[in-house]
Amino acid sequence: MSKWVYKFGNGSAEGDASMRNLLGGKGANLAEMNKVGLPVPPGFTVTTEVCTYYYANNNTYPADLKDQVKEAVKYVEGIMGKKFADNSNPLLVSVRSGARVSMPGMMDTVLNLGLNDETVKALAKASGSERFAYDSYRRFLQMFSDVVLGADLELYEEALENMKKAHGYKSDTDLTADDLKELVNIYKEIGQKIGKVVPQDPWDQLWAGIGAVFGSWMSARAITYRKLNNIPGDWGTAVNVQTMVFGNAGDDCATGVCFSRDPATGENRYYGEYLVNAQGEDVVAGIRTPQPMGSIGDGTSLEERWPHLYKELVDARNNLEAHYKDMQDMEFTIEHGKLWMLQCRNGKRTAAAAVRMAVEMVEEGLLNHEEAIMRVGADQLDQLLHPMLDPKAKKNVIATGLPASPGAAVGRAVFCAEDAEAWAAKGEKVILIRNETSPEDIGGMHASQGVITARGGMTSHAAVVARGMGTPCVSGSTDITIDLKAKTMATKCGVVIKEGDWVSLDGAKGQIIEGQIPTVQADTNSGNFGKLMGWVDQIRRLKVRANAETPQDAKQALAFGAQGIGLSRTEHMFFEPNRIADMRAMILADNEAGRREALARLLPYQKQDFKDLFKIMDGLPVTIRLLDPPLHEFLPHTDPEMQELADKLGKTLAEVKARTNALHELNPMLGHRGCRLPITYPEIAEMQTRAIIEAAIESEDAGVKVIPEIEVPLTGSKKELDIVKAIIDTTAEKVFAEKGKKVHYIVGTMIELPRAALMAEELAQSAAFFGFGTNDLTQTTLGMSRDDTGAILDEYRARGIYVADPFASIDVEGVGKLVKRACVEGRKVNPDIHLGVCGEHGGDPKSIEFFEECGLDYVSCSPFRVPVARLAAAQAAVKAKAKK
Ligand code: PEP
Ligand code: MG
Repeated sequence: MSKWVYKFGNGSAEGDASMRNLLGGKGANLAEMNKVGLPVPPGFTVTTEVCTYYYANNNTYPADLKDQVKEAVKYVEGIMGKKFADNSNPLLVSVRSGARVSMPGMMDTVLNLGLNDETVKALAKASGSERFAYDSYRRFLQMFSDVVLGADLELYEEALENMKKAHGYKSDTDLTADDLKELVNIYKEIGQKIGKVVPQDPWDQLWAGIGAVFGSWMSARAITYRKLNNIPGDWGTAVNVQTMVFGNAGDDCATGVCFSRDPATGENRYYGEYLVNAQGEDVVAGIRTPQPMGSIGDGTSLEERWPHLYKELVDARNNLEAHYKDMQDMEFTIEHGKLWMLQCRNGKRTAAAAVRMAVEMVEEGLLNHEEAIMRVGADQLDQLLHPMLDPKAKKNVIATGLPASPGAAVGRAVFCAEDAEAWAAKGEKVILIRNETSPEDIGGMHASQGVITARGGMTSHAAVVARGMGTPCVSGSTDITIDLKAKTMATKCGVVIKEGDWVSLDGAKGQIIEGQIPTVQADTNSGNFGKLMGWVDQIRRLKVRANAETPQDAKQALAFGAQGIGLSRTEHMFFEPNRIADMRAMILADNEAGRREALARLLPYQKQDFKDLFKIMDGLPVTIRLLDPPLHEFLPHTDPEMQELADKLGKTLAEVKARTNALHELNPMLGHRGCRLPITYPEIAEMQTRAIIEAAIESEDAGVKVIPEIEVPLTGSKKELDIVKAIIDTTAEKVFAEKGKKVHYIVGTMIELPRAALMAEELAQSAAFFGFGTNDLTQTTLGMSRDDTGAILDEYRARGIYVADPFASIDVEGVGKLVKRACVEGRKVNPDIHLGVCGEHGGDPKSIEFFEECGLDYVSCSPFRVPVARLAAAQAAVKAKAKK
C-alpha cells in the first residue's frame, strides 16, 4: 500500500523538512516546525504524488486515499478533542495548496471548511459569539463558492456591499449577527440561482476542497507563474489540511506575517506586520494596512500590545532561523491570547537583501563561504547590476509609501495590467499603478518597470510578487488616490498623474517622483557585494569572459570582472554609417581588385577597433571572430536605398538589385556565411587578419600585453578550417616580415553546427580552441529558430505540457550531448585545446552548471551577465564538489 497522507501535530510528525518534493514546501515545514517544538495546529498533508496520480488518471484519486484521509482526520480529532462534521463540537479545517517551491498568490485556499447550517450553531455556542460564527460561515460560503465552485466573486461582494448600504454601515465590522445570518441566506440564494451550491456535508466540502487545490495547479495563473519561474508542470502540488485557529474571534485575536530579517534590505532585525481581529489572508490581500511587530513607540505594535506573545514570537524566530540557517518567512495566528505558528519557509528576498544576509550570516558564524554563495540566486543578481536614480538629480517627490521592493523605475503611468502588457509590447516603459494587485495582474507586473499601490503592506501581494520578480515597488501609499475610470492618480500634495505621464519611483526609499529622473550605474565592487564576489572568485573553476566589440562594452565587462573577451563579432564593427558604405562597395564590387580596394578602406577602422580592445583588455585574451553573417545582411532593402547606393557606386538600380537577389539567403541562418565567406572571398579574411596582427604589433609596441585569438566561424570540417587557417597564417607571416616583428596568436574555431561537433576529433588537430556557439548550434540541432520556439512553447504550455526553452537554458539532451562529445573527443587528440562557450547560454546559470560538468575552460556572455556568470560558475563548482 502506498502512503499518500502524512500527519502532524502535538510536537510530532510523519514528515520532515527534507521531504519537500513529496510534501511540498508548506507540508514539509509544518512537519518540521512540529519537530522543533513550535505550536502548530495539527493536520495532515496529501502528497504531491496524489496530484501527479490525479492528472495521470483522468482526475481521479488512488483507491486507498479515502481511507488514509479518514484515518488522518481521526488523528487530528483525537488531538483537538473535536469531531469533523459533528454538530455539537465540530472540528473546522483549512485546505491549502503547497508546491515544492512557494508560488505566492498562485494557488487557492479555503478556510473554515466544515461549517454548515448546523455546525455554525455549535461554533456560535463554543465561541460565545453568534456574530463571529456567522461571519465565519458567510466567509466560508463566499470563499468556497469562489475557489472551489468557480462562482463569480463579485455577486457575493455586491450582496455584502448592498447590505452595508441598506443599513448605512461604513465597514464590514458594523454588520450584526442578524445581518450576517441574513447574508448567509442571500449567499445561499445566489448559489441556487447560478447553480453553484455549497454542499452541507463537511466530507463533501473536504473532498471538493482537495480537488480544487489540485485543479488550481493547472489554472491559467499558476501556469503563467510557472512559466515565468521555470517550474515544471509535473511537480504537482500537495494539499495541506489543518485545524482552523481563529485570528478573527475577537480583540484578543490577531493574524500576522513576519520575517526573521528584513526581506527588502537584509538587515538583521525582526520584521513583520499583523492585524488584530482578522483572518488568514487579510494581511496579504492588502485590504487593511497592518501594524508593525516591533515597537515604534505609538502603542500600535504587537510588542507593546502583547509583550509576552511578542517574546514568544521572537523565540520562535530565533529558533527557526538557527534551525534552517536561513531567513524565515512566518505566518502566525493568535487565538484568544494563544500563539499558533501556521507556516514557515525560507523568505523571498531582494537581491540586495540576499547578498547582505549571506555576508552577515558568514560574519555571524552561521554559514561558511560556500553556503553563503549558494544563498544568492544567480538570476536575481541582475537586479543589483542595474542603474539607480541619479542621487544628484532634482526630484519632486509627490507621494511616499512603503519601500516594498528596491530599485529605480522610470516609466509612463498605466492603470491596469492589460494596458501595462499592451504598452510594453509596443516598446513603452511603464509603471503600473493600482489600488492593490492580485494574481491576475502578474503578467502586467512583469511587463512593468515598477509598481505602485495605494493599499497593502510590505507583505501584500504587490510587495511579495514584485520582490520576487525584482521589480521595484512602492506599496500602500496613503498619499495617493486612484481613479481607475479616469486613469489618474491624484496625490495629497495636489499633483495629478494621468495615463501616459512619466513617473519615477525609488523602491528602496518608498518614494514616488514626478517625471523622468535620470539613472546612474550601480557600484558592484565594494561593500557586501564585493565581499561575496571575492568568495565567488575563490570558489569557481570556470573562467568568465564577455562577448564585446565596442570599447564601451569591453570596459563594462572589465568592471564586472570579465577575464577577457570570449567573442568579438567583427560584423558589428561594419554597421556604422561611414563604414557600411565601404562594406557595401566591397560586396558589390565586380571583381577581386574592386573588393580589395574597398577592403583597404575598411582596414584602418578594423585595426583601430582591435587596438582599442587590446588596450582595454591588457594582459587578457581577446577572441576575434572573422566575419560571419551572409553578405546580404549588409545591403539595403528598399528601392530608394538601393537607388542611392547604385548612384554612389556608379551602377544601375537593376545591377544592385540583381546582386542583392543573388546574395539573398532564403534562410539567413544557413548558406553563404561563416567560413564559407573567406573560402570564396579570401581577401576578406586577409584584411581582417592584417588588421588584427598589425593592431597587436602596434599595441605591444605601446606596452600593451596582447593575447589575440582568431576564430573561424561555422566550420563543419577540418579541410575548411585548414583553408582559412592557411589564409590567416600566410597573412600574419607577411605582416611579421613587413614589420620585422612577431606576436603570438592562436587560431581556433566556432562549433556551431552538429557536423562540427561530430568532427571534433578532426577539427581539434588544427584548432587551438573551440568556441561553442550554442545559439546556432541550438537552431541547427533543433531545426527551430528562437521565434518558432517561442510560439511553439506557448502552445505547449497552454496545454499544460512543460517544456524548457532551449534558447534560455541549454537543451542538455541534444545540444548538450554534442557539446560534451566535442569536448571529450577534442581533448583526446589535443589535450591542450582550450574550450569555451560564447552563445547566450554562457550567461545562463542552469547552462553554466552543465558547462561545469563538461569541464569547459570558460563561458563568455554579455557584459551585464558577467557577475551572474561568475556567481553561477561558483555555485556550479560547489554542486559539482557535492556530487563527487
Ligand atoms: C552562436 O551561434 O552561438 C554565436 C555565438 O554566434 P552568433 O550568435 O553571432 O551567431
Ligand atoms: Mg553563431
